[in-house]
Amino acid sequence: MVATLYIDGAWRQASDGSAHDVHSPHDQRIVATVSQATQSDVQDAITAARESFDSGIFSSWSFNERSALVAKIADLLERDADLIARKESDDTGKRFIEAQYDVADVVSTFRHFAALGLKEHGRVVDVGLDHVSSRIVHEPLGVASLIGPWNYPLLQIAWKVAPALVAGCSFIVKPSELTPQSAIALMKIIEEAGTPKGVANLILGPGSVVGTPLINDPRIDLVSFTGGLTTGQTIMRAAATTIKKLALELGGKNPHIIFADADIEAAIDNAVTAAFLHSGQVCSAGTRLIVERSIHDQVVNEIVRRAGLITLGGPDDRLAETGPLISQAHLSNVSQYVEKGVAEGAQLLVGGKRSDLPEHAQGWYYLPTVLDNCTSKMFCVQEESFGPVMTVEVFDTEAQAIAIGNDTPFGLSGGVWSKDAEKAARVASALRHGTIWVNDFGPYRPAAEWGGYKQSGIGRELGEHGLGEYLEIKHIWTNNAPSRSGWFRAHE
Ligand code: NAD
Repeated sequence: MVATLYIDGAWRQASDGSAHDVHSPHDQRIVATVSQATQSDVQDAITAARESFDSGIFSSWSFNERSALVAKIADLLERDADLIARKESDDTGKRFIEAQYDVADVVSTFRHFAALGLKEHGRVVDVGLDHVSSRIVHEPLGVASLIGPWNYPLLQIAWKVAPALVAGCSFIVKPSELTPQSAIALMKIIEEAGTPKGVANLILGPGSVVGTPLINDPRIDLVSFTGGLTTGQTIMRAAATTIKKLALELGGKNPHIIFADADIEAAIDNAVTAAFLHSGQVCSAGTRLIVERSIHDQVVNEIVRRAGLITLGGPDDRLAETGPLISQAHLSNVSQYVEKGVAEGAQLLVGGKRSDLPEHAQGWYYLPTVLDNCTSKMFCVQEESFGPVMTVEVFDTEAQAIAIGNDTPFGLSGGVWSKDAEKAARVASALRHGTIWVNDFGPYRPAAEWGGYKQSGIGRELGEHGLGEYLEIKHIWTNNAPSRSGWFRAHE
């Protein structure tokens, strides 16, 4: 019996007993078998979340009490870090050490929100009347559906669960069907920490089946979703019927601009990491290299050389520098994307195919790929591959670099390399993306907001705004010396 759904404070199997296997992207072995929720399980989870919220069993706790709970969850996550990292690397195929970094980031996320909960919330407004007290109070928003992707499964869920708990919301978590194990582990910890029954619920299964009611049901107040643009559009349309609050973290096609006056060695090294870390399965991957024409050959030749050196391997391969793609379907999408790029006129300089090493035969390994001679109008420059594919464009002037960097429907992140601090600051300010790195690419901190301009999303996670997404703002006006308003006549 597989009982991995967590609903109303109890672990259950699916109501019809359905379960599905999770396969390792490294060698296709079965790494777990988990319950697959039915529609009736989803309804039960929504009911439990709604009833727990409306009962005040948790939503009436003070910020301090909820922060203490979240801090305890951080401690328990730290205790089980290696266990969880193992599950994460089994599901995603990423190296165990990378999964360990991810779990450490998850712990930091919980600690950040626990600390934020202790800050003062709300404020007093001076309305200029001695007999009136006016207060802005922050209240838990209600019931939230928290839907996550497969690339950083626990981290992306943590960015939602931690603030939802600090805010006092009840919620239903739905991780990607490809990577459910770490969410199960998190839910066990949330239970152990003493979270009241019904507040945290876990539903497993494909988004098209179990995700839809999590968007449509009028008892849900907020949908916080991280995933692809197309799914985001579907969710936004569905949420319109009940005017749900939405927080969307979608894709990116992130410009990485290198000026000729940059620290070239550092820029090249970071460009390789930005594009090929986690085999490009990173929403903020720097997959769009935009390089000043005069240094194009020097930079691109060296990137190509280093891309060819990258060692691929499974979770426990100590020599591996990055791992497989998540699934056969994704590998096929990435190959088609590259083929389309070449057909459009891009020049394939390295990669462009599946690894043919015998030890990769059972896994979804795709070689780091560089496509040169690209222009902004090409499909491979406009669309996200979510794989290890770097496209290269050139520019001659600062204005051109900015125009190319902004010529995308996405706006998640970008980087700029130059030793001229004023120029770098001008470009950073002109780029319409949610995070800009100057002479760096990739780092983030829970204390800093994360999110996208344009079609990369709506709202922000992390920072202070990441908590705000889960709070309602109420104005309470109290008249301490009531009198007639005098607007309408009281008598004939
Ligand atoms: P996806 O959109 O296929 O799936 C994401 C989640 O949505 C999964 O849990 C899936 O089951 C669920 N889902 C699918 N259809 C649904 C529906 N109709 N209703 C409700 N839920 C549904 O995305 P993915 O392939 O898992 O993740 C990759 C994408 O995520 C990339 O585009 C990447 O850029 C994006 N991403 C963005 C960020 C960010 O911070 N902006 C972070 C990580 C990943």
